[in-house]
Amino acid sequence: MPQETTSRAKLKAVTSRSDAIEGEPERDLEECPMCFGTGMEVVPNKGARICVCRKLKSQVGKFERVRLPKRYDGFHFSNYKPQNHTQKEALKLAMSLTMDFPAVDRGLLLMGTVGVGKTHLGVSILKGLTERGFSCLFYEFGSLLKEIQDSYNPNTFSSELGVLSPVLKADVLVLDELGASKPTDWVRDTMAHVINSRYNDKKLTVFTTNYLDERRRDGEEILEDRIGTRLRSRLYEMCKTVIMAGEDFRKTFDRTRGAASQAQ
Ligand SMILES: [Zn+2]
Repeated sequence: MPQETTSRAKLKAVTSRSDAIEGEPERDLEECPMCFGTGMEVVPNKGARICVCRKLKSQVGKFERVRLPKRYDGFHFSNYKPQNHTQKEALKLAMSLTMDFPAVDRGLLLMGTVGVGKTHLGVSILKGLTERGFSCLFYEFGSLLKEIQDSYNPNTFSSELGVLSPVLKADVLVLDELGASKPTDWVRDTMAHVINSRYNDKKLTVFTTNYLDERRRDGEEILEDRIGTRLRSRLYEMCKTVIMAGEDFRKTFDRTRGAASQAQ
Protein backbone atom coordinates (compact mmCIF):
# COMPACT_ATOMS: atom_id res chain seq x y z
CA MET A 1 0.00 0.00 0.00
CA PRO A 2 1.64 3.26 -1.09
CA GLN A 3 -0.10 5.32 1.59
CA GLU A 4 1.19 3.01 4.28
CA THR A 5 4.75 3.41 3.03
CA THR A 6 4.38 7.18 3.21
CA SER A 7 3.17 7.15 6.78
CA ARG A 8 5.95 4.80 7.85
CA ALA A 9 8.49 7.02 6.14
CA LYS A 10 7.11 10.07 7.94
CA LEU A 11 7.31 8.25 11.24
CA LYS A 12 10.94 7.47 10.66
CA ALA A 13 11.71 11.02 9.63
CA VAL A 14 10.16 12.42 12.79
CA THR A 15 12.02 9.93 14.94
CA SER A 16 15.42 10.61 13.52
CA ARG A 17 14.95 14.37 13.43
CA SER A 18 13.82 15.04 16.94
CA ASP A 19 13.57 12.21 19.40
CA ALA A 20 9.94 13.21 19.91
CA ILE A 21 9.02 9.58 19.62
CA GLU A 22 11.13 7.17 21.57
CA GLY A 23 12.14 3.82 20.20
CA GLU A 24 11.74 2.34 16.79
CA PRO A 25 8.35 2.49 15.12
CA GLU A 26 8.70 -0.97 13.57
CA ARG A 27 9.21 -2.49 16.97
CA ASP A 28 6.19 -0.64 18.40
CA LEU A 29 4.01 -1.96 15.63
CA GLU A 30 5.21 -5.49 16.24
CA GLU A 31 4.22 -5.11 19.85
CA CYS A 32 0.75 -3.76 19.11
CA PRO A 33 -1.62 -5.91 21.19
CA MET A 34 -4.49 -5.42 18.76
CA CYS A 35 -2.97 -6.37 15.43
CA PHE A 36 0.37 -7.87 16.49
CA GLY A 37 2.11 -5.60 14.02
CA THR A 38 0.10 -6.55 10.94
CA GLY A 39 -1.66 -3.17 10.88
CA MET A 40 -4.98 -4.93 10.28
CA GLU A 41 -7.37 -6.17 12.87
CA VAL A 42 -9.80 -8.96 12.12
CA VAL A 43 -13.29 -8.40 13.50
CA PRO A 44 -15.45 -11.54 13.75
CA ASN A 45 -18.31 -11.49 11.21
CA LYS A 46 -17.20 -8.12 9.85
CA GLY A 47 -13.84 -8.66 8.20
CA ALA A 48 -10.62 -6.74 8.57
CA ARG A 49 -10.06 -3.08 9.36
CA ILE A 50 -7.02 -0.85 9.73
CA CYS A 51 -5.73 -0.87 13.29
CA VAL A 52 -5.61 2.42 15.21
CA CYS A 53 -1.85 1.98 15.62
CA ARG A 54 -1.52 2.76 11.90
CA LYS A 55 -3.53 5.96 11.86
CA LEU A 56 -1.68 9.05 10.74
CA LYS A 57 -0.35 11.17 13.54
CA SER A 58 0.33 14.61 12.14
CA GLN A 59 -3.00 16.37 11.99
CA VAL A 60 -1.94 19.93 12.73
CA GLY A 61 -4.67 22.10 14.21
CA LYS A 62 -7.15 19.28 14.28
CA PHE A 63 -6.93 18.92 18.02
CA GLU A 64 -7.44 22.55 18.94
CA ARG A 65 -11.15 22.18 19.53
CA VAL A 66 -10.41 19.11 21.61
CA ARG A 67 -8.49 21.40 24.01
CA LEU A 68 -5.55 19.08 24.31
CA PRO A 69 -2.68 20.77 26.13
CA LYS A 70 0.42 21.19 23.94
CA ARG A 71 2.52 19.01 26.21
CA TYR A 72 0.51 15.99 25.10
CA ASP A 73 1.30 16.42 21.40
CA GLY A 74 3.61 13.42 21.46
CA PHE A 75 1.15 10.98 23.04
CA HIS A 76 -0.10 8.26 20.70
CA PHE A 77 -1.04 4.62 21.00
CA SER A 78 2.05 3.74 18.95
CA ASN A 79 4.50 5.10 21.53
CA TYR A 80 2.84 3.90 24.70
CA LYS A 81 5.17 1.30 26.21
CA PRO A 82 3.38 -1.03 28.62
CA GLN A 83 5.64 -2.04 31.52
CA ASN A 84 3.54 -4.92 32.81
CA HIS A 85 0.43 -6.92 31.97
CA THR A 86 -1.97 -4.47 33.63
CA GLN A 87 -0.67 -1.67 31.43
CA LYS A 88 -0.78 -3.91 28.36
CA GLU A 89 -4.38 -4.79 29.12
CA ALA A 90 -5.22 -1.10 29.58
CA LEU A 91 -3.67 -0.32 26.18
CA LYS A 92 -5.72 -3.06 24.58
CA LEU A 93 -8.97 -1.83 26.14
CA ALA A 94 -8.23 1.76 25.13
CA MET A 95 -7.55 0.73 21.53
CA SER A 96 -10.66 -1.45 21.36
CA LEU A 97 -12.80 1.40 22.60
CA THR A 98 -11.29 3.73 20.01
CA MET A 99 -11.96 1.32 17.18
CA ASP A 100 -15.38 0.11 18.30
CA PHE A 101 -16.96 3.44 19.26
CA PRO A 102 -19.88 4.19 19.07
CA ALA A 103 -20.72 0.50 19.49
CA VAL A 104 -19.55 0.52 23.12
CA ASP A 105 -21.76 0.77 26.16
CA ARG A 106 -19.28 2.04 28.72
CA GLY A 107 -16.29 4.33 28.97
CA LEU A 108 -13.13 3.65 30.95
CA LEU A 109 -11.98 4.66 34.40
CA LEU A 110 -8.19 4.45 34.21
CA MET A 111 -6.99 4.16 37.77
CA GLY A 112 -3.42 4.07 39.07
CA THR A 113 -0.61 5.99 40.68
CA VAL A 114 1.42 8.68 38.92
CA GLY A 115 3.50 7.56 35.97
CA VAL A 116 1.65 4.49 34.72
CA GLY A 117 0.45 6.24 31.54
CA LYS A 118 -3.21 6.93 32.24
CA THR A 119 -3.15 10.33 30.57
CA HIS A 120 -1.12 8.94 27.68
CA LEU A 121 -3.91 6.44 26.97
CA GLY A 122 -6.71 8.98 27.52
CA VAL A 123 -5.08 11.36 25.05
CA SER A 124 -4.53 8.55 22.53
CA ILE A 125 -8.22 7.63 22.71
CA LEU A 126 -9.20 11.23 22.00
CA LYS A 127 -6.82 11.53 19.08
CA GLY A 128 -8.04 8.29 17.56
CA LEU A 129 -11.70 9.24 17.91
CA THR A 130 -11.11 12.77 16.62
CA GLU A 131 -9.50 11.27 13.53
CA ARG A 132 -12.55 9.07 13.13
CA GLY A 133 -14.68 12.23 13.06
CA PHE A 134 -16.25 12.30 16.51
CA SER A 135 -16.46 15.44 18.62
CA CYS A 136 -14.06 15.04 21.51
CA LEU A 137 -13.05 17.16 24.44
CA PHE A 138 -10.22 16.97 26.95
CA TYR A 139 -10.32 18.58 30.37
CA GLU A 140 -8.27 18.33 33.47
CA PHE A 141 -10.65 17.98 36.38
CA GLY A 142 -9.19 21.05 38.16
CA SER A 143 -9.24 23.29 35.07
CA LEU A 144 -12.80 22.39 34.26
CA LEU A 145 -13.95 23.29 37.76
CA LYS A 146 -12.01 26.52 37.64
CA GLU A 147 -13.53 27.53 34.31
CA ILE A 148 -17.01 26.75 35.54
CA GLN A 149 -16.35 28.70 38.71
CA ASP A 150 -14.91 31.68 36.84
CA SER A 151 -17.95 31.84 34.60
CA TYR A 152 -20.34 31.75 37.52
CA ASN A 153 -22.77 34.61 37.36
CA PRO A 154 -23.94 35.72 40.83
CA ASN A 155 -26.98 37.49 39.36
CA THR A 156 -28.44 34.41 37.80
CA PHE A 157 -26.92 31.90 40.22
CA SER A 158 -25.74 29.89 37.27
CA SER A 159 -22.65 29.24 35.22
CA GLU A 160 -22.23 30.35 31.65
CA LEU A 161 -23.48 27.73 29.22
CA GLY A 162 -20.49 28.61 27.08
CA VAL A 163 -18.24 26.54 29.32
CA LEU A 164 -20.61 23.79 30.29
CA SER A 165 -22.40 23.16 27.02
CA PRO A 166 -19.47 21.61 25.09
CA VAL A 167 -18.62 19.49 28.12
CA LEU A 168 -22.13 18.08 28.20
CA LYS A 169 -22.48 17.73 24.42
CA ALA A 170 -19.16 16.28 23.24
CA ASP A 171 -19.47 12.72 21.92
CA VAL A 172 -16.50 11.77 24.03
CA LEU A 173 -15.06 13.55 27.06
CA VAL A 174 -11.77 12.67 28.68
CA LEU A 175 -11.68 13.98 32.23
CA ASP A 176 -8.13 13.78 33.48
CA GLU A 177 -7.15 13.57 37.15
CA LEU A 178 -10.60 12.99 38.56
CA GLY A 179 -10.67 13.86 42.25
CA ALA A 180 -7.61 16.13 42.12
CA SER A 181 -9.48 19.17 43.45
CA LYS A 182 -10.39 19.65 47.08
CA PRO A 183 -13.81 18.01 47.42
CA THR A 184 -16.05 20.83 48.61
CA ASP A 185 -19.84 20.57 48.30
CA TRP A 186 -19.70 22.83 45.27
CA VAL A 187 -17.11 20.62 43.59
CA ARG A 188 -19.17 17.51 44.25
CA ASP A 189 -22.42 19.09 43.06
CA THR A 190 -20.80 20.43 39.92
CA MET A 191 -19.15 17.15 39.05
CA ALA A 192 -22.36 15.26 39.77
CA HIS A 193 -24.16 17.57 37.36
CA VAL A 194 -21.61 17.03 34.58
CA ILE A 195 -21.29 13.29 35.07
CA ASN A 196 -24.99 12.59 35.56
CA SER A 197 -25.94 14.69 32.54
CA ARG A 198 -23.54 12.76 30.34
CA TYR A 199 -24.77 9.49 31.83
CA ASN A 200 -28.40 10.36 31.13
CA ASP A 201 -27.57 11.35 27.56
CA LYS A 202 -25.61 8.11 27.08
CA LYS A 203 -22.43 10.05 26.27
CA LEU A 204 -19.11 8.30 26.55
CA THR A 205 -16.70 9.54 29.22
CA VAL A 206 -13.17 8.37 29.96
CA PHE A 207 -11.74 9.25 33.37
CA THR A 208 -8.25 9.03 34.75
CA THR A 209 -7.54 9.20 38.46
CA ASN A 210 -4.58 8.85 40.80
CA TYR A 211 -6.91 7.68 43.55
CA LEU A 212 -7.61 4.01 44.10
CA ASP A 213 -10.64 2.21 45.49
CA GLU A 214 -8.83 0.53 48.34
CA ARG A 215 -6.94 2.22 51.13
CA ARG A 216 -3.38 0.94 51.24
CA ARG A 217 -2.59 2.58 54.56
CA ASP A 218 -4.41 4.49 57.28
CA GLY A 219 -5.25 8.04 56.33
CA GLU A 220 -4.78 7.52 52.61
CA GLU A 221 -7.61 8.99 50.61
CA ILE A 222 -9.42 6.82 48.11
CA LEU A 223 -11.51 7.89 45.13
CA GLU A 224 -14.75 7.66 47.07
CA ASP A 225 -13.39 10.15 49.64
CA ARG A 226 -12.68 12.59 46.84
CA ILE A 227 -15.87 12.37 44.76
CA GLY A 228 -18.43 10.87 47.16
CA THR A 229 -20.08 7.47 47.37
CA ARG A 230 -22.92 8.17 44.96
CA LEU A 231 -20.70 9.46 42.22
CA ARG A 232 -18.29 6.56 42.64
CA SER A 233 -21.11 4.09 42.14
CA ARG A 234 -22.39 6.03 39.13
CA LEU A 235 -18.93 5.59 37.61
CA TYR A 236 -19.26 1.82 37.96
CA GLU A 237 -22.31 2.05 35.71
CA MET A 238 -20.66 4.36 33.19
CA CYS A 239 -17.19 2.92 32.98
CA LYS A 240 -15.13 -0.20 33.10
CA THR A 241 -12.62 0.18 35.92
CA VAL A 242 -9.09 -0.44 34.66
CA ILE A 243 -6.39 -0.65 37.31
CA MET A 244 -2.96 0.20 35.94
CA ALA A 245 -0.15 -0.99 38.16
CA GLY A 246 3.22 0.69 38.41
CA GLU A 247 6.54 -0.83 39.34
CA ASP A 248 6.12 -0.59 43.10
CA PHE A 249 2.50 -1.40 42.97
CA ARG A 250 2.01 -5.11 42.56
CA LYS A 251 0.81 -5.73 46.11
CA THR A 252 -1.91 -3.15 45.81
CA PHE A 253 -2.93 -4.43 42.43
CA ASP A 254 -3.36 -7.96 43.70
CA ARG A 255 -5.55 -6.74 46.54
CA THR A 256 -7.69 -4.33 44.52
CA ARG A 257 -8.20 -6.64 41.57
CA GLY A 258 -10.96 -8.47 43.41
CA ALA A 259 -12.90 -5.26 44.03
CA ALA A 260 -12.59 -4.18 40.40
CA SER A 261 -13.76 -7.46 38.94
CA GLN A 262 -16.78 -7.56 41.23
CA ALA A 263 -17.82 -4.27 39.73
CA GLN A 264 -17.83 -5.50 36.16
ZN1 LIG B 1 -2.10 -2.34 15.67
